Amino acid sequence: MTSAPSLDADVIVVGSGAGALAAALAACDAGATVTVVERTDAVGGTTAVSGGGVWMPANHVSGAGDGREAALAYMTHLAAGRTAADLLARYVDEGPAIVAGLEERTKLRFRPVSWPDYHPEMDGARPSGRMIEPALFDASLLGGWAAHLRRPPVLGLPMTLQESTVDWTPSYTPRRYDAAEIKERVQAR
Ligand SMILES: Cc1cc2nc3c(=O)[nH]c(=O)nc-3n(C[C@H](O)[C@H](O)[C@H](O)COP(=O)(O)OP(=O)(O)OC[C@H]3O[C@@H](n4cnc5c(N)ncnc54)[C@H](O)[C@@H]3O)c2cc1C
Repeated sequence: MTSAPSLDADVIVVGSGAGALAAALAACDAGATVTVVERTDAVGGTTAVSGGGVWMPANHVSGAGDGREAALAYMTHLAAGRTAADLLARYVDEGPAIVAGLEERTKLRFRPVSWPDYHPEMDGARPSGRMIEPALFDASLLGGWAAHLRRPPVLGLPMTLQESTVDWTPSYTPRRYDAAEIKERVQAR
């Protein structure tokens, strides 16, 4: 999507969603030269049009209270034998540090979303704390790259998941929806 990519880089990352860009960042931090190739004319993939919720047990954002064994018990029930146990364990063991590392390495900041786990009846479920999301982000920090971001066809207002589903719920309670605040955010990008 920019000039001809440098294909002699140490690492070629295909795509520009969360998975690809996190990999690119990790490779770059490890000292590799990295080229990201994206087949569309926009950066961000499905990730850029998603709700942005990140389900991460024992994350540093929501504070203490969660535990490895409870998280693994919940995931094991949910996976119902379809995901290898070592993969589940790796998610729980390494995921929180990846989220924390993204905050250390970038301007991205995470905030809690006060949602319960989707299956609160299952062993190991928690009433809140495992869902987090990016805080509002100042797009001007991206410089010229801001113009290349994929624009969402839905969920397009600069509102967090917490605001749109808990604090304001604009679809159901439009009177609580703070239109002036949203207008200010749109203008501030
Ligand atoms: C409306 C909506 C809301 C969602 N909300 C949530 C949520 O709140 N929480 C959650 O966990 N999940 C959510 N999801 C799902 C989540 O967005 C996806 O699972 C996630 O973004 C996938 O990330 P990814 O990095 O794997 O791929 P993507 O973000 O899709 O990125 C893949 C990229 O690779 C590019 N690409 C593909 N093939 C090639 C190729 N051959 N060459 C070059 N580039 C290529 C694509 O163009 C794209 O840019 C939501 C999805 C939608 C649609």
